[in-house]
Amino acid sequence: PDNQFHPDPSKKNLVILGTGWGSVALLKKLDTENYNVIVVSPRNYFLFTPLLPSCTTGNIEHRSIMEPVRQILRSKKASAMYYEAECTHIDAERKVIKISDNSDIKGDVHVTEVPYDMLVVGVGAENATFGIPGVRENSCFLKEIKDAQAIRTKIMDCVETAGFKDQKPEEVSRLMHMVVVGGGPTGVEFAGELRDFFDEDIKKLVPEIADSFKVTLVEALPNVLPMFSKQLIDYTESTFKEEHIEIMTKTMVKNVTDKYIEAEISRPDGKKELTRIPYGLLVWATGNALRPLVKDLMSQIPAQKDSRRGLAVNEYLVVQGARDIWAVGDCAVAGYAPTAQVASQEGAFLARLFNNMAKTEALEAKVHELSASLNVQPGNSAQVVQEIESTERQLRRIKDIKPFHYSHQGSLAYIGSEKAVADVAWLNGNLASGGKLTYLFWRSAYLSMCFSTRNRVLVALDWVKAKVYGRDVSRE
Ligand code: FAD
Ligand code: NAD
Repeated sequence: PDNQFHPDPSKKNLVILGTGWGSVALLKKLDTENYNVIVVSPRNYFLFTPLLPSCTTGNIEHRSIMEPVRQILRSKKASAMYYEAECTHIDAERKVIKISDNSDIKGDVHVTEVPYDMLVVGVGAENATFGIPGVRENSCFLKEIKDAQAIRTKIMDCVETAGFKDQKPEEVSRLMHMVVVGGGPTGVEFAGELRDFFDEDIKKLVPEIADSFKVTLVEALPNVLPMFSKQLIDYTESTFKEEHIEIMTKTMVKNVTDKYIEAEISRPDGKKELTRIPYGLLVWATGNALRPLVKDLMSQIPAQKDSRRGLAVNEYLVVQGARDIWAVGDCAVAGYAPTAQVASQEGAFLARLFNNMAKTEALEAKVHELSASLNVQPGNSAQVVQEIESTERQLRRIKDIKPFHYSHQGSLAYIGSEKAVADVAWLNGNLASGGKLTYLFWRSAYLSMCFSTRNRVLVALDWVKAKVYGRDVSRE
């Protein structure tokens, strides 16, 4: 067999970009037999991002939260094609995309084109740096598996380097200073996990550096976790105080070097003050920026001219001003926050939409056929007319697709020392809670949200393993 894709000419080519929350939710619910489905993504797995902060300390092993896309596709009724590649250009005029294999091993052909009839863009976002000098060169992000692995290695590198013979106290303090920039949920959850790692494992194994370990969270706004209620923000801030995590609010990082960051602090009297913060490990979590592919597509479409944060879509997630292109998740602007919850609901909505579109076309073809047979065999006309009417009724029912509507299930975040915060909208009332019970809820909620039973079992085993044997501090 060759590895050429042999599409069924009677079906449309549906190309899906990305294997993240949006695209995978679409794939999960899509009736693949209705289309020639082609998935393109440089990542051949789905990543359960909510547990990524736990991978930075080895509380969870990274493979436990990955699900191979091949496994996902295997469970579909009709086969779908997957290409491990990055889409580098969308030609909206010709309806083709350019794809490129950017992995280490490349064959003779590593750049080619794929034509589409329908395209779904679910490529997510990049890490925002706001052009601040030195960020890319000196800090770790926390978005992908490789980021979590790099952080895990660096934490232990800092610890072992601080323990090096004759290291001066000032240098030990610098190396043991773990700075997190960005007080959104990513920064807060990471800071909490880091403090747990230190308290539960590092402190016992490397007691000589214990007094110097420090975590600082730097945030430009007046408080952390802006999407949570005031009560939960206060709870998080007081928990961090108990955990000895310093929060520096109204502090905007302006410059990053290999050993310190420079930040501007806004004082209550309105004065601004520049400060230098030495660090050993710097984790940068200041949110999302547009991917070049998305910028490139937006520049081709005049209707996207005023959109800044991503592809503006209508209430059916159609990219405004484009033909046969839909967008989901962090790269789309539909009026919601860039979260997994939104992305997966958008993906599931598109699956329903596409399943419906295929059914509509099939029913329309049936009406057409029946009408034609009416002319050829007028004998059975009463029965055929009845059948046409019933098919048309069916058509009207499924054609009436309601626009996308996001249903917010609540926000959850882990804040360290077996505590979590939750803003959950239940039974029309708002339940805001923090603490140990919420932590158990957080754990069970995330466990139930894992992609597969295999993931659930692996994550649960990792938790037990870390509790019983401690986290593995080998630096690798
Ligand atoms: P992603 O999930 O980022 O997927 C994008 C996909 O596109 C990837 O497969 C990528 O490889 C692929 N891709 C990239 N470029 C290209 C290209 N050129 N061509 C083809 N494919 C491409 N949200 C919550 O609701 N709850 C949480 O608890 C939560 N926790 C989080 C924790 C962390 C550490 C992070 C970083 C995020 C968290 N989020 C959470 C946010 C959530 O992960 C994102 O909103 C979500 O991943 C967006 O889904 P997406 O499908 O748009 O993009
Ligand atoms: P975010 O956009 O939520 O927060 C980034 C923070 O960085 C902001 O508060 C911003 O003021 C701050 N910042 C920006 N520039 C700065 C600077 N120069 N100096 C200091 N601070 C600066 O980013 P995130 O936490 O990565 O989250 C991204 C998205 O993913 C959000 O929609 C979030 O809700 C979602 N998410 C959700 C969860 C959860 O529900 N548990 C976890 C992680 C991420």
